[in-house]
Amino acid sequence: MKNLIDGVSRIEVPTPFPVGSVNCYLIESSPLTLIDTGPKTTKSLEIIQKELQERSYSMSDIEQILLTHGHIDHIGLAAQFVRERAHAHDNPTKVWIHQKDATAVVNYDRYAELYMEFYTDLITSSGVPQTERPILPPKGLIEYFKSLVESVPTAISFNDGATFKTGIGDISAVWVPGHSSGSTCYVCDEKQVIFSGDFILGDISSNPSISFERSEKIGIITYLDSLNRIASRNSYIALPGHREPILDIKSRIQVLRTEYDDKLQKTSDSLTDTPQTVYDISRIIYGDYDSNSLLLALAESHDLLRILERRNHAKLIHLNGIVHVVKN
Ligand SMILES: [Zn+2]
Repeated sequence: MKNLIDGVSRIEVPTPFPVGSVNCYLIESSPLTLIDTGPKTTKSLEIIQKELQERSYSMSDIEQILLTHGHIDHIGLAAQFVRERAHAHDNPTKVWIHQKDATAVVNYDRYAELYMEFYTDLITSSGVPQTERPILPPKGLIEYFKSLVESVPTAISFNDGATFKTGIGDISAVWVPGHSSGSTCYVCDEKQVIFSGDFILGDISSNPSISFERSEKIGIITYLDSLNRIASRNSYIALPGHREPILDIKSRIQVLRTEYDDKLQKTSDSLTDTPQTVYDISRIIYGDYDSNSLLLALAESHDLLRILERRNHAKLIHLNGIVHVVKN
């Protein structure tokens, strides 16, 4: 456990995902606060218990949990904290999540079903060749995801601008949809720190295209708009959900914007008069990616194509249920 700023410690909790460990942040003093929890695995539970013990705390001491968004690696263990406290104290652990991500925390099974629909739809409509197609519907995958989360029916949802008392001063919730519909940055103006979850990460993408409640909205556009919501706090430190702190938010935001401009250009350059599938385009943009990256590559390619369509550079056409694109 490393102390980053006075009163805040980082607990690195392992996850079974390629991203590596997830950062949970303990804000000391009253009310004892935890930002994100890690997934529900035996190993994660052991580590978080051990790290808390080293600080002379136990899980039941945590009074409030602020969740940055509703993804497995951030929410999975919340229910365990609630249970431990219920055995030891009269006042329960308060678990907070933005209203747009509340389903994931309150009823993860329902959320997993929605995810499965999105996944199946995307694979089917992108024209993935039979040889590279995962088994559909991906029942095994969904069961695995479900095993990593325990729902918290008592979780409380909030909206943009909610404030929370913590040991380092008031923290306000800044809603930054993109990575997920309810992604939230928790901002402490007194300490000039932003707990940024997966909204802004130091050296990896936030993958805004895999947020599946998209309807008319394009994940990348929503994400780029949300960056404006924290851009004015450019002297703050961001403590992200993975990897190291971001000391220069302004430069990081600039890099992220440039990356998307470059990808859009590359996508635009790959268009021809002959119809290509979303899968074809993904192979041009991302090259020889492996099956673990299939969903990300397809989702982002689809978003990039929708942006080009809006700009009248591309035309999306549906042929036998498969999305194809031609140059406009
Ligand atoms: Zn994450």
